[in-house]
Amino acid sequence: MKYISTRGQSPALSFSEILLGGLAPDGGLYLPESYPQFSDADLSAMRGMNYRDLAFTVLSRLIDEQDIPAQDLRTIVDKTYRAEVYCYTRKGQNAEDITPTLKLENNLYLLSLSNGPTLAFKDMAMQLLGNLFEYVLAKKGETTNILGATSGDTGSAAEYAMRGKKGVSVFMLSPHQKMSRFQAAQMFSLQDKNIFNIAVKGVFDDAQDIVKAVSNDHAFKAANKIGAVNSINWARVAAQVVYYFKGYFAVTQNNSEKVSFAVPSGNFGNVCAGHIARMMGLPIDKLVVATNENDVLDEFFKTGVYRPRGSANTYHTSSPSMDISKASNFERFVFDLTGRDAAKVRELWSSVDAGGAFDIKQAGLFDKIASYGFVSGSSNHLHRMIVIREAEAKYGVVIDTHTADGLKVALELRDMNTPMVVLETALPIKFEDAIIEALGHSPERPEPLQGIEDLPQRFEVMDADVDAIKAYLVANT
Ligand SMILES: *Cc1c(COP(=O)(O)O)cnc(C)c1O
Repeated sequence: MKYISTRGQSPALSFSEILLGGLAPDGGLYLPESYPQFSDADLSAMRGMNYRDLAFTVLSRLIDEQDIPAQDLRTIVDKTYRAEVYCYTRKGQNAEDITPTLKLENNLYLLSLSNGPTLAFKDMAMQLLGNLFEYVLAKKGETTNILGATSGDTGSAAEYAMRGKKGVSVFMLSPHQKMSRFQAAQMFSLQDKNIFNIAVKGVFDDAQDIVKAVSNDHAFKAANKIGAVNSINWARVAAQVVYYFKGYFAVTQNNSEKVSFAVPSGNFGNVCAGHIARMMGLPIDKLVVATNENDVLDEFFKTGVYRPRGSANTYHTSSPSMDISKASNFERFVFDLTGRDAAKVRELWSSVDAGGAFDIKQAGLFDKIASYGFVSGSSNHLHRMIVIREAEAKYGVVIDTHTADGLKVALELRDMNTPMVVLETALPIKFEDAIIEALGHSPERPEPLQGIEDLPQRFEVMDADVDAIKAYLVANT
């Protein structure tokens, strides 16, 4: 299996060749040259597999044997998807399921993706990425210094995935005193020598700008082996495909049944994996894209206009991990929507990359969206509060604010005869203040995380100064 760029002007590469990189050199995103197909017989053989076997079955169709030998992939998958890693299950759920389902009512389910070390779905892919990085770097005899900026979830998932990994250091910038106490405690309490937390005096955008400035200094980047683990990383998307299969088998009896998934969306990484699972032959009916007030994706699926916002029009909401101005993985879907016409994608993104928008109707493609199963809706703070209250009252389940965005839109758009699976993307304790606002009490906190805020913290407070951060990187690598 080779990977090609959505912009069509980069050479095709193998899985491990694109593993450590971000965008393709032509500015596009990587996708498999064709999607592997899972037949009815394949699906029947996969039904009943545990998570590790499913992950191996899906990923081995995306990674060549000559690239990563099957035996090695097997070891990496088995090491990653263990009950001890994804241990923060609700009472009554089985951690061995890795992504357990919870029935709310007839044809309505939660798929728990947030039982990993940082209590958000990003652990599903990032833990695999950590083990893949270590393996590929060792094989190549290389090292990497991951530089990133985070407002909370991505940074902590990356740090917990890379801690103690040979050949990898992580330098994570976060806005000083802007994360929740819980999020800061999660990151800053890590004592591993290869993890460096830098609290930048400023807001998230200041931290992000520093990362961009360092990455644009190509000489510095090469000399200091600077890498990234952002949401466009193909391996992350590939890892996420697996739990759509797991969720599908959990709520169906046979492969003639269809299932819909509702996905709290920001950068379109999670739901893009659902799109790919569907393209591979998984019988998915609808892919429900749920946004918060930052509704750039809802606008696209309703009108055909893709119009990324500026930072002044990007709102800080109570589902902060979905506060995005543009959906960085979205180009992958549009590439498929155009019939994989890279010239068309270049044309559409020439206006987006220049700060503008495009209208898919003008390209004659709007009517094709429905054939990919996509529908959408959006949610706001009041909706989240109501849905969190209703979920507790009706189902006895406390959900987080992001999952509430998903459930709100799922309830609006579901067809009562088709199972609807809402992806649970974070545990409520991660966003405790919003839960207290909705319910008047704190959500349950898993036993091992009691008192995490009181642990000793290890972080550096620095000015939002590119040269100072560069000097810190050099001094610590
Ligand atoms: C990252 C994140 C999302 C958004 O996922 P995308 O892949 O960016 O669409 C939703 N919920 C939570 C809790 C997240 O951390």
